[in-house]
Amino acid sequence: MKKLIAGNWKMNGSLAANDALVRALVKGMEGDAGCSVAVCVPAPYLAQVQMLRAGSALELGAQDVSQHSEGAYTGEVSAAMLKEFGVRYTIVGHSERRQYHCETDALVAEKARAALAAGITPIVCVGETLAEREAGRTEEIVKRQLAAVIHANGHCISEIIVAYEPVWAIGTGKTATPGEAQQVHAVLRAQLKAATGHADRVHILYGGSMNAANAASLLAQPDIDGGLVGGASLKAADFLQIVRAAR
Ligand code: PEP
Repeated sequence: MKKLIAGNWKMNGSLAANDALVRALVKGMEGDAGCSVAVCVPAPYLAQVQMLRAGSALELGAQDVSQHSEGAYTGEVSAAMLKEFGVRYTIVGHSERRQYHCETDALVAEKARAALAAGITPIVCVGETLAEREAGRTEEIVKRQLAAVIHANGHCISEIIVAYEPVWAIGTGKTATPGEAQQVHAVLRAQLKAATGHADRVHILYGGSMNAANAASLLAQPDIDGGLVGGASLKAADFLQIVRAAR
């Protein structure tokens, strides 16, 4: 199975900066990248990045999606709208949305369902806070978060992507050790296997201060199928180095 490296630009970018970044990524990915590569960009830039990546293997992702299909939901963006702009993936349940926008497990599950219904692959983020880890609750938390998505999405569950993102590692420069990450990935793998009931392998990405220096050792773990990369996805050279580590 090919690994997937997905960049999460968060609320960063400008027309000029995106132009330079995406052109550098497209150039750096010429030939066979050896893995799947995507950038999840702020919604206003979807059209720009869609044009810039045309003809390349770079895929387009969004950072969130509405659980509703259309209607009086000011400020929301539907999965069908994302689809019209060539979006292949959307992040759902990023810890910043759970924390700052009060997104619950049930809402995240609905968002995953809306994405799947439109033919977009949801990248479902799960992860514990530092307090939860220190209290020995990591497994319980990630299993609860994933269970909600499994419950709401039934037989479609093999179509999702999961990203294990320990909250304490996001944007902090603190990375889970390869062993710590692998331990949680194995738990999630077992949960997904039990839910899918067959051998379909769901991608489980690691996210949390992944960078050019630590990517290779994380990606060498048996249950780490790629990365969700925040800060390091804003620098073409760093992101391309992570992509190369995923070959
Ligand atoms: C993220 O935003 O999903 C993330 C993992 O960020 P960072 O790589 O900056 O920790």
